[in-house]
Amino acid sequence: MDLGIKGKRALVCAASKGLGRGCAEALAEAGVDLVLNARGAEALEATAEALRTAYGVNVVTVAADITAEEGRAAVLAEAAGVDILVTNAGGPPPGLWSDWDRDDFIKALDGNMLTPIALIKALMPAMIDKGWGRVVNITSGSVKAPIPQLGLSNAARAGLTGYVAGTARQVASKGVTINNMLPGIHATDRADQLDGGVAKAQNITLAEATAQRQATIPARRYGTAAEFGAMCAFLCSEKAGFIVGQNILLDGGAINATL
Ligand code: NAP
Repeated sequence: MDLGIKGKRALVCAASKGLGRGCAEALAEAGVDLVLNARGAEALEATAEALRTAYGVNVVTVAADITAEEGRAAVLAEAAGVDILVTNAGGPPPGLWSDWDRDDFIKALDGNMLTPIALIKALMPAMIDKGWGRVVNITSGSVKAPIPQLGLSNAARAGLTGYVAGTARQVASKGVTINNMLPGIHATDRADQLDGGVAKAQNITLAEATAQRQATIPARRYGTAAEFGAMCAFLCSEKAGFIVGQNILLDGGAINATL
């Protein structure tokens, strides 16, 4: 399928690895030039070079913390005028409801709610001026079904989801869509980090913790970054202009719900 976005330009945040990289790769395959961000310069440049070589697209990198004001400014300096924005950042740490104080919540809100909102606010006006734009936020299945040990994530991502629900409907008439992608468990470093916590708590190996979790998923496996990226590229495509303010769950059936 021709996604109709060859030659457009995208900012993909937190994209040297994992789901962000999956999105970047699928956009590159569709012929989209990229501004890629992550904190670590080495992995970021390696990803950029791999995408340049594989797809012949132009890739600019900005090594910076996207959740910090200075980092965001550096990224936005390169990304001005992009047609496509994919927001992403690391997830907050797990814990118990009683663990977190105000500073922990502020950090989670900064990373997973206020950062994507700041990026949307900065890049949306140019999309509106052009009459075309796509925003995809990587959130979490925790928006639909809370994950008890990820209370910070449950809270911050729900806030972003509410903002997007209202904003998407304000800008849809300008040719700009905003949607969220809700990952269930995917095989990335983040999954290893979460399974590592379970392994430690239950005194089992990482492989055992992973197998235990896979057994709870109807698909009996974790998702891949490539599958996730393919959906992202479709949401960013010319074909997806009528998909507005939606929350697309990719979880192998893990959340047991009719809708
Ligand atoms: P990952 O494999 O750990 O990759 C995270 C990527 O983000 C890396 O490229 C990392 O590079 C970059 N990054 C992290 N913090 C950053 C920051 N502050 N500024 C710029 N770049 C940053 O994680 P993932 O699995 O792809 O997860 C992506 C998001 O989806 C996270 O918010 C996660 O909580 C959420 N999620 C993931 C899953 C899952 O199963 N994988 C499920 C639900 C939700 P540097 O470290 O070099 O910055």
